[in-house]
Amino acid sequence: MPISDVAAEIKAGRVEQIIISGDYSALSVEFKDSRETKLSRIGDGVDVVEVLHNFGVSEEEIATITIDYQQPSGWASWLPLLSGILPAILFMVIFYFFLRQAQGANNQALSFGKSRARMFTGDQPTVTFEDVAGVEEAKEELYEVVEFLKEPEKFISLGARIPKGVLLVGAPGTGKTLMAKAVSGEAGVPFFNISGSEFVEMFVGVGASRVRDLFDQAKRHSPCIVFIDEIDAVGRHRGAGLGGSHDEREQTLNQILVEMDGFDTDTNVIILAASNRPDILDPALLRPGRFDRQVVLDIPDIKGRKGILDVHVRGKPLANDIDLEILARRTPGFVGADIENMVNEAAILAARRDKKVIGMEEFGEAIERVVAGPERKSRIISDEEKEIIAYHEAGHAMVMSKLPLCDPVHKVSIVSRGMALGYTMPLPEEDRYLKHRAKFRDKLAGLLGGRAAEELMFNDVTTGAASDLEQVTKLARKMVCEYGMSEELGPMTFGKKQELVFLGREIAEQRDYSEAVAQEIDREVRRFIDEAHSRAREILTTYRDKLTALAQRLIEKETLEGAELQAMLA
Ligand code: ADP
Ligand code: MG
Ligand code: ZN
Repeated sequence: MPISDVAAEIKAGRVEQIIISGDYSALSVEFKDSRETKLSRIGDGVDVVEVLHNFGVSEEEIATITIDYQQPSGWASWLPLLSGILPAILFMVIFYFFLRQAQGANNQALSFGKSRARMFTGDQPTVTFEDVAGVEEAKEELYEVVEFLKEPEKFISLGARIPKGVLLVGAPGTGKTLMAKAVSGEAGVPFFNISGSEFVEMFVGVGASRVRDLFDQAKRHSPCIVFIDEIDAVGRHRGAGLGGSHDEREQTLNQILVEMDGFDTDTNVIILAASNRPDILDPALLRPGRFDRQVVLDIPDIKGRKGILDVHVRGKPLANDIDLEILARRTPGFVGADIENMVNEAAILAARRDKKVIGMEEFGEAIERVVAGPERKSRIISDEEKEIIAYHEAGHAMVMSKLPLCDPVHKVSIVSRGMALGYTMPLPEEDRYLKHRAKFRDKLAGLLGGRAAEELMFNDVTTGAASDLEQVTKLARKMVCEYGMSEELGPMTFGKKQELVFLGREIAEQRDYSEAVAQEIDREVRRFIDEAHSRAREILTTYRDKLTALAQRLIEKETLEGAELQAMLA
């Protein structure tokens, strides 16, 4: 009933009382003849009496009726109250949430031991080898694993030994995690994964039991893949940590080793692990029957970057003028993760500009953004650096190819520098065969080829040759002190080495010769090195044109191999 009608009824003396709920939201009118009606809402907080006055009801007339203000009741009555405390409740919920997050690691750690069955579910990744580009060699090597997982019987019936553990090695962002998933996706088998970094904040004993559970689950779902990501976090040299010898990390590592040793090859479970730093891994992990196979994911060269670009622009609308070749050329030093990031940035930029397609402009800006990004700074290669590196590597290749006793040069690249497994002929630490002095001499010259090229072309030297020089010095010293290859000093050894059997490392060298001999040793070492250095310079001076051509080609293509390389070296 509208308020005007109520006013009329009051004037007519027919109204008994008006009941008003505390918040004015519900008003009802009771008549003397016990009829009842609802009064239309007059607005929150508006005084009914005043409104009635406005409709011409006098004081006296109002006095004839009862006005009953009722305390609110029911859920509606809670509303005003609720609106007061709601923020407080919300705050408490958020606070509780954060508290839980902070304790998350511990809570999880506690629950791991209990809910074993639900801990690991083998996902089925949807990525395949098609999604991983620029690492063809790694793919080829891993294809064997894929084939085995697809048809284990075929291999087992022939008695073939399939690797149990494969270590994926590569700089951050080169696609190790992606590759592991792709192997599993390609083979169509479940993927059980765990990350080494998860163990770092755990209670003692939890890491080990978690590893046990992981392997238990995996065995039940074979054929499958177990992937241990970031194994460096637990796989570092034992005894190298600060936390004593029985810390969590070590127990976890031991458990991984125990599980791997307990596996039969016919379990059809293949263990993949990923590492940025294979050089710091505990040698026990790399022993036969464990991660005895390493697959390197190189930093991509131009061709590789083009391939990765192809993967990431798939399904994205590109402007007609987009040339992926040029983009690949403009992104030296980029790894897969950088390229993904760059394509994404370009798409975002285009969207912000309300464009329908991504243009070259956006890609250009995106490259700049990625280059300026925090984690990219250390990896940027300037054009100048690129040139020096190219001459350095071309120098190695040129000298090595001109010396008959040097190992043949298969591949030269200016991108995988700084990686543990570069392409520059690595000098084996331990030579198992008999080697001639002449071969060592050539090797020394080859190792110095990089430095010699820098001197020749730039009249200056860089830090780039540091590891070459270290190898050169080591080898020359060995020639003199261990192999008795110096004519001056004759066939005898100098210095007793004490080796720690367990660590397999030298800890001290005992001198068993006089100061005079020490000087002579140094002189002889120097002589070997100087001689090698001048041979390297000589070769490079003679073939200076070829050196330049090779370096220029390297700047252009970043990697050279096969017939093209041989033609340039010939
Ligand atoms: P890592 O584990 O070596 O640090 P990730 O596998 O996590 O690197 O790579 C991060 C992302 O970068 C991947 O999800 C993928 O989108 C992209 N990426 C990295 N490498 C490649 C590659 N070779 N081909 C295609 N995409 C790649
Ligand atoms: Mg990773
Ligand atoms: Zn070098």
